[in-house]
Amino acid sequence: MEARVCVSVDTECDKEAAWNVRHPLSCSNVRHGIERVLRQTVDAWGVKYTFLLSGEVASDGEAVEAVCGVDGCEIGAHLHGEFVEPDADPQCCRTSRPQCSYSAHLEREKLATLTREIEKATGVRPRSFRAGRFGYSVHTFGFLHELGYVVDSSITPFWRQQFGPEVVRDHWGVGCEPFFIVGADGSGRGVVEIPVTIGIPGLLWMPRRLMEIGRKNRTMRRLLKKFVRGDARVLWLRPVRSSVKDMIGLMEAVLEWWKGPEPVTLNMMFHSNELMPGMSPYCQTEEDVEQFGRDLGSVFEWCLANGVKFGTLSDAAQALNSGALRKVRPQELCQTSR
Ligand SMILES: [Zn+2]
Repeated sequence: MEARVCVSVDTECDKEAAWNVRHPLSCSNVRHGIERVLRQTVDAWGVKYTFLLSGEVASDGEAVEAVCGVDGCEIGAHLHGEFVEPDADPQCCRTSRPQCSYSAHLEREKLATLTREIEKATGVRPRSFRAGRFGYSVHTFGFLHELGYVVDSSITPFWRQQFGPEVVRDHWGVGCEPFFIVGADGSGRGVVEIPVTIGIPGLLWMPRRLMEIGRKNRTMRRLLKKFVRGDARVLWLRPVRSSVKDMIGLMEAVLEWWKGPEPVTLNMMFHSNELMPGMSPYCQTEEDVEQFGRDLGSVFEWCLANGVKFGTLSDAAQALNSGALRKVRPQELCQTSR
């Protein structure tokens, strides 16, 4: 079976170890990470990165030059509304506000501005997207379609996030296979979803129908958890957060239990900030950054040895027959489980 791995990088301004934004605003982590870590992986293994640019990066000439200089990469978009007009707040301490907290009108305006600014800066209209803090709204996917996007990657299977007292994103039981998010009105005006590859290896054998029930019903969820075969941990295809052994174990399990006729599509994620010491909660020293690079190399080597090809998010979407994908309404993704 055809298999592909995307490596999608949230590309953001310089931040501190607690994720606070550094002022004055700078984006030195972007060039640093590419030069210290990523370029050699492109040269050695032919990795194809998807850089999802936050608004402030699009207005930093050096950072734009650095990402555009990476062979075979794709430039996509990543919304942190603090850095995008209207109502931008570039002096913010943190980029904590999810786009689901904006009015629909303001969210659409910010997405339109971000798209325009990235196109102006790079000469390429972005086609792939990830919401800042994965905080998409029920409207996001329709807006993305209108703006010419073909792929979203804001879904984090098995991850639960609470944005304020009311808004919960609970992705327990969502598979890591791509699906098609239709418009909020049920129309085909949506985008292909390529979730971040996150899963419980010991539950990947479970039929999708049962997982769907467990997704909506917590009693069923507790019951399904009793049928874990082996590893019951939630693993991410994400360096530092998961060890090399766990990332490879997860990929092996996903390859073994892939559901549906479409090509296996894996999606590793991390932030540009993780590739420079002290710019994220992850790598604090140059040695940490080197270890990060070695971990990436081990995973990429495994991919090549096991016939998993590298591709951007758009490449992966193009290889899928979007008409054959499972259709999901955005309301279902935004629903809280009972
Ligand atoms: Zn982000």
